[in-house]
Amino acid sequence: MLSLTGNMENTEHPSTKVFDVVCGMELDMESVRHAYEHEGIEYYFCSAKCKGRFFEDPDAYIGKS
Ligand SMILES: [Zn+2]
Repeated sequence: MLSLTGNMENTEHPSTKVFDVVCGMELDMESVRHAYEHEGIEYYFCSAKCKGRFFEDPDAYIGKS
């Protein structure tokens, strides 16, 4: 699915870590099944439940007031 093929040094661990902004869980970007784009930025979630919570009130999770 998503693969970074740039000139990254760490080729042994090509997977990128992302964080679920709702629950704070660290996720492996390649195995994330729940993503949501908000204002041009893609956010990743551990579950549909977290994605749903973000969807309801994204500003609460990205530090906007
Ligand atoms: Zn979560």
